[in-house]
Amino acid sequence: MEHNVVGRFAPTPSGRMHAGNVFAALMAWLGVRAAGGRLVLRIEDLDPRAQRPEATRLLLDDLGWLGLDWDEGPYYQSERADVYVQALHTLEERGLTYPCFCTRAELHAATAPHASDGTPLYAGTCRGLTPDEVAQRARTRPFATRLRVPEEDDPAGRIAFDDLVCGPHTQTLACDCGDFLVRRSDGVMAYQLAVVVDDALMGINQVVRGNDLLGSTARQIYLQELLGYERPTYAHVPLLVAPDGRRLSKRDRDLDLGEIRAHDAGPERLLGRLAATVGLAEPGEQVRAEQLVERFSWERVRACARESVVFQA
Ligand code: GLU
Repeated sequence: MEHNVVGRFAPTPSGRMHAGNVFAALMAWLGVRAAGGRLVLRIEDLDPRAQRPEATRLLLDDLGWLGLDWDEGPYYQSERADVYVQALHTLEERGLTYPCFCTRAELHAATAPHASDGTPLYAGTCRGLTPDEVAQRARTRPFATRLRVPEEDDPAGRIAFDDLVCGPHTQTLACDCGDFLVRRSDGVMAYQLAVVVDDALMGINQVVRGNDLLGSTARQIYLQELLGYERPTYAHVPLLVAPDGRRLSKRDRDLDLGEIRAHDAGPERLLGRLAATVGLAEPGEQVRAEQLVERFSWERVRACARESVVFQA
């Protein structure tokens, strides 16, 4: 058995958990429990504008109802600004960042190539500003902070990793995202920086999360390398999609835990259906989370699905 696995569940409290969030939480929990490891709960309430009152309390209550316990935390990102600022200073002092004055409209208007998945790349508008230009603009405009990524042909910007679910992956920062934000112009730290600092300081060595974050992984690994942190193992679990291929989201009210808990006495039906999508339960079987621990392995998950799995509402 693999010892000393330290995993985490890191929800953003922007609304009630839906079936897709529960699936990611269940996989993170199983990844740790099946290895006899430790689970950290971290509430990603970094952005004050994205918070919903009550969401955190409901989240903790929903995890309890599901039987998904944790060993450490909850930690709150809103209380950890000083460690993010310290990491940002380290990057700034080494000349790896630059201030970006682009407004949302300017970013939108700039013609830049697009990454393979259609995300616009930063056009580099503020990359070459002189210290004088920076000083002048900073008098009247708030600025964000971007991290300079290596040029396309520089091997330092080619990030390769082996995902427990998705297999080997290589991303080139200059082509997949370009210079990316580490601090927003309203002063809020970017998710990419906060998550890397937290995972490192909390000793996380296994990151389990939804496949929608696969594209962030290269940026996070690059930040880990710059800051001298260990690289965790990654497992990007499939997203749940409706039978018509549409991704489930918080808008599907019938799949949020408020609705589910109003109809189901316990979590067994939901957990059974989620486990069945990756072959850990028979169709129609009702299970408790602990019953899945001995059935779980990353090989089984990988054999069933990569990017998405169909979930019947
Ligand atoms: N807070 C993110 C979310 O709820 C997850 C971040 C992560 O797992 O790295 O989507």
